[in-house]
Amino acid sequence: MPEGPEIRRAADSIEAAIRGKEITGVEFTLPHLKQWQQSLTGSKVIAVETRGKAMLTRFSNGLNLYTHNQLYGRWFCVDAGKMPDTRRQLRVAIHTHDRSALLYSASEIAVLTKSDVDSHPFLSRLGPDVLSAQTTAGILLQRLMDERFRRRQLATLLTNQSFIAGIGNYLRCEILFVCRLHPCMKPTQLSQQQLALLAESLLDVPRQSYASGGITHHLATAKTMMRHGATLEEARFRVFRREGKPCYRCGTRIIRQNSGGQPCYLCPQCQKNA
Ligand SMILES: [Zn+2]
Repeated sequence: MPEGPEIRRAADSIEAAIRGKEITGVEFTLPHLKQWQQSLTGSKVIAVETRGKAMLTRFSNGLNLYTHNQLYGRWFCVDAGKMPDTRRQLRVAIHTHDRSALLYSASEIAVLTKSDVDSHPFLSRLGPDVLSAQTTAGILLQRLMDERFRRRQLATLLTNQSFIAGIGNYLRCEILFVCRLHPCMKPTQLSQQQLALLAESLLDVPRQSYASGGITHHLATAKTMMRHGATLEEARFRVFRREGKPCYRCGTRIIRQNSGGQPCYLCPQCQKNA
């Protein structure tokens, strides 16, 4: 599933393609959404916001398009009149005179008014967004020590969207490795220093991934690896999908174990269970 950084990059490309331009047509293929086609035509997209893994496309007439890509949803931006080469099912098309933004395969789609957004069952439960400038390490440190979260295992806490919005499995594995923490540990077991490093890494790792096109590894190292022939997939992660390969810190083989219903990749030497 795409995580916060991937959704934000999709939002950036939609903004680059259609923001501020008059909408010449909107198509919804799901029957219950067709009623909105007329009211969105003639307005403009003023912003594409992301809230964790959800996207909120804001229109100049006050309406908002809520979309959650889940596993399969994918946005394409194309020149007007062109269609992408995909066998996926079109769900939403927003056309302007020169560019179109097209959403395929997503199933969670709704058109919302301002008050619908405020009371939306998923959006209203989201924790602070990992890429938002308003989310600080101080806020996250407080949340780690909060009664609601401090006794949860990090394996499931980090991907709990009510704790922090935008972290999925690859970010979880990479953050835990950076902080040398075992996924079964809980905030109550951590020192102040470990909590502070975790709060910072919860922001730094996703933000670097967003800025670098998905690299959570040490950036200079990843770039050197790619100059020497490694693919982006081979160079981008510290532990994720590196089962059986040597830890970049200590040489121990990376293992894969089930944690919170998802495969977690970790170094058994660097990330010991306390
Ligand atoms: Zn190690």
